This record gives sequence, structure tokens and C-alpha cells, in this order.
Amino acid sequence: MKTYRIGVIGGDGIGPEVVREGLKVLRAVEDGFDYSFVEYPYSGEHYLKTKELVPDRVIDEWRTLDAVFFGAIGHPAVEPGLVERSVIMGLRLGLDLYVNLRPVKLFAEHLCPLKNKTPQDVDFVVIRENTEDAYAGLGGIFKKGTPDEVAVAEMIFTRRGTERAIRYAFELARQREKQRMNASRDGGRMKNAKVTMVDKANAIRAQDVWTRAFAEVGKEYPDVDQNHLYVDVCGMLMVKSPEAFDVVVTTNLFGDILTDLGAMIQGGMGIAASGNIHPGKNGMFEPIHGSAPDIAGQGIASPLGAILSAGMMLDFLGEKRAADRLETAVASLLVSRRIPSVDARSGLSTSQIGDMVARALQH
Ligand code: ATP
Repeated sequence: MKTYRIGVIGGDGIGPEVVREGLKVLRAVEDGFDYSFVEYPYSGEHYLKTKELVPDRVIDEWRTLDAVFFGAIGHPAVEPGLVERSVIMGLRLGLDLYVNLRPVKLFAEHLCPLKNKTPQDVDFVVIRENTEDAYAGLGGIFKKGTPDEVAVAEMIFTRRGTERAIRYAFELARQREKQRMNASRDGGRMKNAKVTMVDKANAIRAQDVWTRAFAEVGKEYPDVDQNHLYVDVCGMLMVKSPEAFDVVVTTNLFGDILTDLGAMIQGGMGIAASGNIHPGKNGMFEPIHGSAPDIAGQGIASPLGAILSAGMMLDFLGEKRAADRLETAVASLLVSRRIPSVDARSGLSTSQIGDMVARALQH
């Protein structure tokens, strides 16, 4: 029997609360495989007690795991960004997790804030390049606090970094089309594989590297529809016509913003899941919400973002059947409104929701 070694970082605030439910569901869905969970303490809370950030030897250890399951980091008493950079950037850069995978999938019509949009209309994936752009940390502040203060932040785009994200998008579009074909029993009209590349190369001329890489890599995928949008137009279309998207690939900064928009049209922070992956190598899976200090400690956070992230982890590990079962269980609890909402006002506790999903999987 295969045993997966999974690193677990609960983090701060609601992070440990939702991760606990993710682990519960992972145990309920295991079937012919097993896990060995390795817990790590890194968080704002841990930093306050010990002044410890993530040491290099731990990053080396993370490289040897099958995957990492992560909650959220952020503590009101710690300098903003300090521990986040150590843990999240330690994982993303240390393990070269260059794809940030964000499914934007509506499970039940009543969760969507857009008028007359159904689960058929809202079902796409955003790939956010995860290692470059303004997040590379180039820049700084000169003459801070004076009237002559100058602040500079550089955006970095390498041809290699751009191309590998775009190539992954094309591969994923092909894979999604194949899955749609397998799932469609009625032979009805199906959406063609499509990749939409999003940049702002008209204003940020350095992003021409994205435009050219997309055109060149695209020649290798003549079977996939290809579309280039500027980020402002993409934001408008995601609200007006989400059905126009299949796979979206974009820069780190634009991806950060567009995926929060995506989270809202699929129901909100309480349901949005993500994966940070180096295909074929390492992966870290996390809900897209933060530590939510406003609701932490009350046991009312929705664990569905973390649970669906655990499902993405199973898919990454090659346990597709288990991943599909997990997603189907969540979808049916939402459609039937047994879980009536994905915010902190569902009337159900975090652990009750975890129990419901786990029970649905055991039946
Ligand atoms: P960060 O900077 O770490 O992203 P934040 O406070 O800016 O933190 P979130 O922690 O994502 O952002 O919270 C944004 C809002 O969404 C908060 O009002 C929070 O209560 C709500 N929220 C976030 N996650 C959940 C969840 N799982 N269930 C219910 N509400 C949530």
C-alpha cells in the first residue's frame, strides 16, 4: 500500500481550524493508500514565542515530501509579511513551485453573486505564474519618510519562467478537454480546449515577453483555441461572461488579483482552493483565504476551501478517483443546501462541516 508523506502547516488564526477538517476528510477518503503526516509549527504565533523562521534544512526536508498541506499565516502582533515570506516564499521559491493553480468552479447556483449564471457557466482554471514579477523583491525605498521619498518595485519576467507557465496552461487545457469528453455521455456540444493569456503588454512593454512566448508556444498546440486579453478587459469579462474561459494563464501580480475576483464568483473566500506546484515534483496546497483574525477561535470558519485544496492534493498525487469523490461529496452537500452557505454564517460549525463531508464519503 502506498503511503504518502505529507507536511502539514496549520499556521495562524483559522488556518489550524480548517486544516484539521481537511485532514479529517483526507482520512475519510483514503482507499488503497495511506498517509504519514509530518507537522510543522511555523506561524506568527510560533515566531512570537521563539523568534524562529523557517530554517534552510526544513526547506530541504520539504523537497523530500510528497506534498505539503497548508492553512494560513498572519498574526496581528507580527510585522506584516515577515513570517508569510519565510513560509510561503520558502515553499514557492525553495521548491520552485512555479504554477499557482486556482480552479474557479461554481458548485451550486445560489452561491454565485452573478445574475443567471449556473455551474455550467463558471468552471475555469487560472494559472498564476508563481515565482517572478513584482514578488521577486527587487526594489526598495530611498529617503524614507522625507519629502523626497522614492519607492521602486521592479517586475521581473524571464523567458524561461514565462514559457513554462504557458506550456503548463496548454497541457492542462488538453487534459480538461479529455476529461470533459469522458464525462459527457450524451454526446452534446462541448466546450473546446481554450487558453486565454492575460497581460498588459500595451502599457507594460516588458510584458511583450509574455505576448511573444504565448504566440510561439501556441504554435505547438494547434488543437487548442487561443486568446490574448489585457488584464482590465479580462476582469470585465470574468464578471460579464465567465463562460468564455477555460484555462487562463497570467503573471504573478495579475493572477493574485484575478483569482480573488474568481473566488467571489464561485461563492467567496470560504470555498476557494489552490495548489502551488512544480509539475511532476513538489506541491503545496492551501485555501486562498488568510488567517481571518476577525473570526478565528470561534469555530465558525468554512473549511471547504481547505477541504477542496486537500482534494487538489489527492489529484496531484495521482489519486484521481479519491479526488473526484471528495469534490462530488462537497458539491452534493452544497446543491442540497445541507451546507447552506460558505461563509461564517452557515449556522454550522467548522467541525460539523468537516464531519458532514467525511460522512458523505464513507457512505
Ligand atoms: P490575509 O492578509 O492573510 O489574506 P485578510 O484578513 O486580508 O488576511 P482573509 O483572512 O482571507 O483576508 O479574510 C477576508 C475576509 O473573509 C474576512 O472577513 C474573513 O472573516 C472572511 N473569511 C476568510 N476566510 C474565511 C472562511 N474560511 N470562512 C468564512 N469567512 C472567511
